[in-house]
Amino acid sequence: MAKFVCAVCGYVYEGEKLPEDFVCPICGIGAEFFKEVKNTAREETVYVEIDDDNVAISRAPSKCVACGNCKSVCRFKQGVYGYYDLQKIKCKSICIDCGQCTLNCPKKALDIKKDYKKLQEIINSRKKTIVFQTSPSVRVSLAEEFGGEAGEICTEQLVGLLRELGADYVFDTTFGADMTVMEEAHEFLDRLKTGKNLPIMTSCCPAWVKFVEIFYPDKINHLSSTKSPISIQGSLIKNYFTKIINKNPQDIVSVAITPCTAKKDEIKKFDDVDFVIPVRELAEWVKSKNIDYFKIKKSSYDNFMSTGSGAGIIFGSSGGVTEALLRTAYFLKTGKDLQNVEFKIVRNLDGFVEAEIDFAGRKLSIVSVSGTINARKMFDEMKKGKKYDIVEVMACLGGCMAGGGQPINVKLSHEQVRQKRSDALYELDKNSQVRFSYKNPNVNFVYKHFLKNFGSPLLHTKYQDKSDILG
Ligand code: SF4
Ligand code: SF4
Ligand code: SF4
Repeated sequence: MAKFVCAVCGYVYEGEKLPEDFVCPICGIGAEFFKEVKNTAREETVYVEIDDDNVAISRAPSKCVACGNCKSVCRFKQGVYGYYDLQKIKCKSICIDCGQCTLNCPKKALDIKKDYKKLQEIINSRKKTIVFQTSPSVRVSLAEEFGGEAGEICTEQLVGLLRELGADYVFDTTFGADMTVMEEAHEFLDRLKTGKNLPIMTSCCPAWVKFVEIFYPDKINHLSSTKSPISIQGSLIKNYFTKIINKNPQDIVSVAITPCTAKKDEIKKFDDVDFVIPVRELAEWVKSKNIDYFKIKKSSYDNFMSTGSGAGIIFGSSGGVTEALLRTAYFLKTGKDLQNVEFKIVRNLDGFVEAEIDFAGRKLSIVSVSGTINARKMFDEMKKGKKYDIVEVMACLGGCMAGGGQPINVKLSHEQVRQKRSDALYELDKNSQVRFSYKNPNVNFVYKHFLKNFGSPLLHTKYQDKSDILG
């Protein structure tokens, strides 16, 4: 695609050819004042650049009014735009796929890259078994797409909608979150024992993982090797659930409904999940089929991966992964249940919280971060000598409940939306019968009958130094 720059205001038009009657939407000057620029080096732009092969985000230049919102978010909240030398990055735009810019684009020029039409074709062909899983924070946000309130819990409507769309099975990714906790808690205790690769850094957020791979590759060893909840669950669906229902993995299409755009990139790495559909994309799909959300027959998750603990649920709010991890790590270390299961001290809707806690006689230093700009602050602290044992980072401010694929709520401020969705998740945890991942009966069943032990390669991954794209 060619680029044409306005000689007066710097607006950039992208397309095969600049139309002869083109008028700059910013300064009103005509096509004769535009100059074609070659893609040998990146230009400073007022918007974020998104490559055509970005699997998570799309950008429609014709809709852009050059307001600059996306660039501000990417630079000041995510710490991505501008943290590289534009002259050096020749071919690829630098993007961690978090989707935060799409939440702030007034013209929807930036949007989720949609895959639901491809999935619909597969469903229509009736040749595959369609297995959905839904992330914890989807149940506290989807209703907003249909006029409901932020934090309104709509789990049964969500499952009902997916059945209407063609699901053969619907599972709860909260189970996958509990599996992630089990594996990561073991990893953490091992590292605590040996002192190697501390602090452990959480790895369930693919945008954060990519951020480390690009900007801080020397910290890759600190990332937990445990896969994210959707990938663990996807792996168990393909490798274990298929055996139970007597199918081959290739007969299955595995779909994750997420708050997240970055998961579209994460799934390219494995064969665990075939499609990621974030909440706004799901809503568009439902509306395109004229399905009436209010008349949908409510439904419940299918057995087998149907139960998640309260610990798994709070993965959706920043600080929740640490809290869930501590609940299980404490049991694995002491053999006892924690009496006070809530670690409000690590809950974090504002971006950066440090805490010290007593963990079975050892003092643990914890930092819970959201918004990747705050991860830069955390790395600066480490550089100055600050020592942490656990580092949790979620790329989106407040965590997944405020993810880049979530509904855009025009009635409330971002802060109010975060608070309401987060409150709903913690309420679900409080009311859960099971609040510890190690007490989830489905988790124990899978370890007993399939995995046998911790550390299965099916549930773990490796990371890659990607800093070469910075030039
Ligand atoms: S998706 Fe995230 S990293 Fe990519 S351009 Fe948007 S804000 Fe920046
Ligand atoms: S936020 Fe949207 S309209 Fe504004 S500069 Fe970015 S892409 Fe263009
Ligand atoms: S915080 Fe959650 S929604 Fe945002 S990029 Fe990370 S995993 Fe995705």
